[in-house]
Amino acid sequence: MIDFNIPPFVGTEFKYINDAINNKKICGDGFFTKKCNNWIENKFNANKALLTTSGSSALDIAAYLCDLNPGDEIILPSYTFSSTANSFVLAGGGQWSPNLVFVDIRKDTMNIDESKIEYAITNKTKAIVVVHYAGVSCNMDKIMDIAKKYNLIVVEDAAQGFMSTYNGRALGTIGDFGCYSFHETKNYSMGEGGAIVINNDKFVEKAEILREKGTNRNQFFRGVVDKYTWVNFGDSYLPSDINAAYLYSQLECADIINSNRLETWNCYYDAFHDYVQEGKFEIPFIPNDCKHNAHMFYIKFENLSIRQNFISYMKSNNIQCAFHYIPLHSSPAGIKYGRFSGIDVNTTIESERLVRLPMYFNMKKEDVQQVINRTLDFLKMTI
Ligand SMILES: *Cc1c(COP(=O)(O)O)cnc(C)c1O
Repeated sequence: MIDFNIPPFVGTEFKYINDAINNKKICGDGFFTKKCNNWIENKFNANKALLTTSGSSALDIAAYLCDLNPGDEIILPSYTFSSTANSFVLAGGGQWSPNLVFVDIRKDTMNIDESKIEYAITNKTKAIVVVHYAGVSCNMDKIMDIAKKYNLIVVEDAAQGFMSTYNGRALGTIGDFGCYSFHETKNYSMGEGGAIVINNDKFVEKAEILREKGTNRNQFFRGVVDKYTWVNFGDSYLPSDINAAYLYSQLECADIINSNRLETWNCYYDAFHDYVQEGKFEIPFIPNDCKHNAHMFYIKFENLSIRQNFISYMKSNNIQCAFHYIPLHSSPAGIKYGRFSGIDVNTTIESERLVRLPMYFNMKKEDVQQVINRTLDFLKMTI
């Protein structure tokens, strides 16, 4: 069986977890959590990074920091994971709708179509939430220009974009907030976990309070206040240092993991490149200003039924492939909390065509070749 995903493991994890236990501090903000925070800040040239319990909780913090008022609207793609939208409904207490305004995606990158954002803006718009699908950046120059023009907050859902860049800048460090996921299906993992990057200094203190059960504990440890107390609403978004120890092992090997994944990605790309036929068989497009992290390799078939046949065919050959995202605007909660802006030209159709191939750190060459061979067999039978 060729698995769709195997969580990353580099070898130092047991030692570091052991160290965390020996440190006799396994709660949040211990030795390894601080190491991870600093690593992100240094490597990505990020202002402030804080590990969280998940990518979803990083998005929750970002959503609370947007300081929503009843009626406020959030612009986001419909083609994304539920968390991207859910956090912003939660931050509004689930009390008003539609506060989500879904914008169509681009056919080539599956990212929010920047040319359709302005049309979706109203005098109630508070923020634009972009998703860097497959670790390939959205058109951030255009999006930041729009945000500036209308005075909007930009949240980057960079759950899939850890180690990717746009014009040399790390994804997650371009908007006001960046959110990463370290779920086991992501490139770098701690089982469940995430991080938020806060690029605008004025939000740092509030973010720390939100993450620390509403207390100013962080300021207390920095000596800014002489006792710590409950100062605002918040939750507990600190991961255990045991989980951070697992993550730190991979951060130390971040470039090795990245180049290994890219190698696999490039094998797929090179093998399929010559078979590309617009509308029938397509592979990812990487814009010039983006360096991606090989988070996923997807292909797009002509339609839903061919895609489903492909998944069954691969399964019968012991290869797990996956599709994802029922567009949020057609999901029960999406219908309740959101509306689609303009016409759904690409979101539904393109999502139905897409399927993801197995991709993980240290995937065996012969397994990659198997996937390629079976895919080409299917292509020859079908197209
Ligand atoms: C994985 C993912 C999330 C959620 O991350 P968790 O760590 O699982 O909470 C959010 N948005 C996108 C686009 C993701 O891929």
